[in-house]
Amino acid sequence: MFDYLIVGAGFAGSTLAERLASQLNKKVLLIDKRNHIGGNAYDKFDDAGVLIHQYGPHIFHTNAKSVFDYLTQFTKWRQYQHRVLACVDGQLVPIPINLDTINTLYGLKLNSSELEKWFESVAEKREQIRTSEDVVISKVGKELYEKFFRNYTRKQWGIDPSELDASVTARVPTRTNRDGRYFTDSYQAMPLHGYTRMFENMLSHENIKIMLNTDYHEIMDVVPFKKMIFTGPVDEYFDFRFGKLPYRSLRFEFETHHQKQYQSAPVINYPNDYAYTRVTEFKYLTGQECDKTTIVYEYPQDEGDPYYPVPRGENAELYRKYAALAEETPNVHFAGRLATYKYYNMDQVVAQALTLYNKIAASETEIVIPSGTTVSTGSRLTNGKRDATHAGSNGNGNGNGATMQAATNSNGNRSTAVLSNGNGNLNAKGNGHGNGNGNGNGKGKGKGHREYSVS
Ligand code: FAD
Ligand code: UDP
Repeated sequence: MFDYLIVGAGFAGSTLAERLASQLNKKVLLIDKRNHIGGNAYDKFDDAGVLIHQYGPHIFHTNAKSVFDYLTQFTKWRQYQHRVLACVDGQLVPIPINLDTINTLYGLKLNSSELEKWFESVAEKREQIRTSEDVVISKVGKELYEKFFRNYTRKQWGIDPSELDASVTARVPTRTNRDGRYFTDSYQAMPLHGYTRMFENMLSHENIKIMLNTDYHEIMDVVPFKKMIFTGPVDEYFDFRFGKLPYRSLRFEFETHHQKQYQSAPVINYPNDYAYTRVTEFKYLTGQECDKTTIVYEYPQDEGDPYYPVPRGENAELYRKYAALAEETPNVHFAGRLATYKYYNMDQVVAQALTLYNKIAASETEIVIPSGTTVSTGSRLTNGKRDATHAGSNGNGNGNGATMQAATNSNGNRSTAVLSNGNGNLNAKGNGHGNGNGNGNGKGKGKGHREYSVS
C-alpha cells in the first residue's frame, strides 16, 4: 500500500515526493503521463548533442533563500544572469526597457534622471491599474506599449492586454538605469548538469517508485494508496464540472545550426513580427561548449498541453469554484501551476510545495505513548472517497507486495517501468528518465516521527 499517489513529476510533485519519502518515511508512487520526469522543466540532449529544454527556456531565479537551499541539496549550480533583446523598429534593444533601450531607439543621450522625466512626460495617468494595458501605459505611455507589449501579448495570450490582469505584464519591469538583466533576484543560476539530473537526484530514494507513461485514471482503481497529491489541471480532476479553465499552450519548433553561436543574445523577442514570440539559443543558458547550436521558436496556441493559466477575472472566478471543491475533497491535496491555476515560476511552485509539505508533516505527526500505543494526531483517514474505491477494486484493499522494477538503458535512463501489485501487472514503457532506483518495497525505518512522552 502506498502512503501517497502523486500525480505529476514536475517541480510540485517531485518536491513533495522527495520530502514525504525522505522526511516522513512515506512510501510514494509518483506517476506522470509523459515519458519523463521533470514536468515542463525537463531537459535532454538532442540528436546533435545539445542540451535543450523540451518545453521552452527555463531560467531559475528566486529571492527565496529557503527554496534555493532546498534545491542545492540536489544540484550544483552554474551562475547565470539572463538577458533578452527585443527586435523593435529593425533594432535589437534590451527588454526590460532601460536607459540603453530608449537612447538606442530614439537616438538620445539621456542619463537616468533625464529618462525618469522623459517617462513622466510620455506616461498616461490611469485611475486604477487593473489590466496589463494599464500597467504599461501608466509607466511608459502608449508608443512604447505598442512597440513592445501590445502585439507580443496578443500573440502570447490570444487576447488584448486590456483583457488580462495587471500581473501579467507587471512581470516585466521598466528601468531608468542600464541594468540589462531580465531578472534582478538574489539567486540566479542554472542546474550545472541540467534540470533532469537534478530531478533524478531528488527522486533517488528507496521510498519513491516512479511510473511513467501513465495517466492517473489508468491506475487509480488498481493501485492501493492512502492519499493523493494531484498536480495536473484542476478542472480535469473534477471532470470539468463547472466548465473548462482556459490554459494557453505553445508549439515549439527546434532548429540545429552547424555553427557555434546563432544569435547575439540568449533570447530575442519579436513583439511585432512573425507568428512566434521569441527565439531562444540554449547554449547561453546551459554554458555548454559544442560546435553546433540549437534554438527554439515558441508559437502560442490554444490547443495542446496546458502551459499557462490565463490570469483574468472570469477565469479566477471559475477557478474559485474548483478551489472550493478541492478544499472539501478528503485525502487529496492539489499543488503546482496547473492544479492551483497560478501563473507561477519554478521557485514559487517549490515554495508552494514545501508549504504544503509542512502542513502535511504537522498533521501527520504521531505521538508515541510510553506503553507503545501509537496515536496519530493527524488525519490518517482510510475512509475517504479514494480509499474506499481502492478497497473495492482490489478485493482486499491493501495491495501487498507492491514492487516496481526499472530497466535501465545505455544512457542510464530508465526505459521501462513495471509496477505489479499482486493483482495483475501494469506496464509503462517509454524512453524517459527514471532514477534507476525503483526496486524493492522501501521498508519503513520509523524516521521522521516526533515522539512525545505522555504521562
Ligand atoms: P508541471 O511541470 O506542468 O508538471 C505537471 C505534470 O503533471 C506534467 O509532467 C504532466 O504530464 C503531469 N500530468 C498532468 N495530468 C496528468 C494525468 N492526468 N496523469 C498523469 N500525469 C499528469 N519558470 C521559471 O521559474 N523560469 C522560467 O524561465 C520559466 N520558463 C517557462 C517557459 C515556458 C514555455 C513555460 C510553459 C513555463 C515556464 N516556467 C518558468 C514555469 C515552470 O515551467 C513552472 O513553474 C513549473 O514547471 C511548474 O511545475 P508543476 O510541477 O506545477 O507543473
Ligand atoms: N511581454 C511583452 N513583451 C515582451 C516581453 C513580455 O508584451 O517583450 C508580456 C507578455 O504579455 C508576456 C508577459 O509580459 O506574456 C510576461 O513575460 P515573461 O517573459 O515573464 O513570460 P514567460 O517567460 O512566462 O512566458
